[in-house]
Amino acid sequence: MTSHKQLFLKHFGQTSVNPIAIEIEKARGIYLFTPSGKKYIDLISGVCVSNLGHNHPKVIKAVKDQVDKHLHLMVYGELIQKSQIDLVKLLNDNLPSTLNSIYLVNSGSEAVEGAMKLAKRVTGRHEIVAFKKSYHGSTHGALSILGDESYKDAFRPLIPSIRFLEFNRKDQLDQIGSETACVIVEPVQGEAGVIMPVNGFLSELRERCLQTGTLLVFDEVQTGLGRTGALFAFEQFKVLPDILVLAKALGGGMPLGAFISSSENMSQLKTNPPLGHITTFGGHPVSCASAYAALQVLIEEKIITDVVRKGKLFKKLMHHQAIRELRGLGLFLAVELKDPDHAERLIEHSPRKGFLIDSFLFRSDSFRIAPPLNISDEEIRMVSKRLLKLIEETH
Ligand code: PMP
Repeated sequence: MTSHKQLFLKHFGQTSVNPIAIEIEKARGIYLFTPSGKKYIDLISGVCVSNLGHNHPKVIKAVKDQVDKHLHLMVYGELIQKSQIDLVKLLNDNLPSTLNSIYLVNSGSEAVEGAMKLAKRVTGRHEIVAFKKSYHGSTHGALSILGDESYKDAFRPLIPSIRFLEFNRKDQLDQIGSETACVIVEPVQGEAGVIMPVNGFLSELRERCLQTGTLLVFDEVQTGLGRTGALFAFEQFKVLPDILVLAKALGGGMPLGAFISSSENMSQLKTNPPLGHITTFGGHPVSCASAYAALQVLIEEKIITDVVRKGKLFKKLMHHQAIRELRGLGLFLAVELKDPDHAERLIEHSPRKGFLIDSFLFRSDSFRIAPPLNISDEEIRMVSKRLLKLIEETH
């Protein structure tokens, strides 16, 4: 009989050269379980998705309740659906008043597409500024602003008029000009290997955008919903974007994305042309029910309050002569090894040791630590010990 693994490798369309290829049957908290009951500690959270761990009972209940009421009803924005309204109200209660209109889509890439279209429509300009080593998604538009040429060459032509600057280079900000519709930036660069903005970089970027009438777009697809220790990373850097992009953890484990701006900006997508952005499944009622429950838990159970401290605990515990640096904010962390090939060995061997860690798209000397935010101190101690043991064995 053909095994699930053989079928996965033969018939499941995918682009990973070296997939983890472990079958998972169920997941609870920080653990993933195989059909035979072997368990793995999840230090990836589906890449910053499962911020409350897996199968949080309140999220699962909300999903089940919504399934009993209704699934998809109508294309976006025509009928009033309670699960969508609950979610936008709660988001709105936790966002500044200039970010009061929330357009729901299905994914991060789609939210980025929406944000770029909105910026073009509002400013009447077409140039977009993005940063080297940024990742914003895999659709044609999002790929056009991806800051790595090798990922794009096979798919040209892409969107024209994209200008790339170096992240953290304040001296390059004068390249943002009166032709620039928007600047899109991850406040902490994720796939570049968790690169923090240097002091004042984001505020100078904000200032330059104000001077030139350019909209500032923060892609908080990875950083958003508590990952860095605030509901949104922009709060920590005290810089307010004109458009905020969310996805990943937003859906509480279901597919959901959002681009968010002022209602004044957003209303412009209604005219010239009308229906300036359309989606069939965007803001799916089950995703919204899941997202609403997850956001409620995140806020009411004050889970974010502990995230910076937990990140510091990792930093305190993870010391080894093979480690060059542990960088990041909250539970958005990267461990850089002195030997540039060490991270790859570690990632390869980690399932054997009962945990899953992951690489970055644009940084091969480092691996990612991004566990569920409700990981306990005890679990952090246990997992750090295991990580250090593996680092010792593989260096
Ligand atoms: N922006 C950032 C910062 C991301 O990390 C990602 C996904 N890794 C995306 C956008 C795209 O999201 P999605 O995969 O849901 O399209």
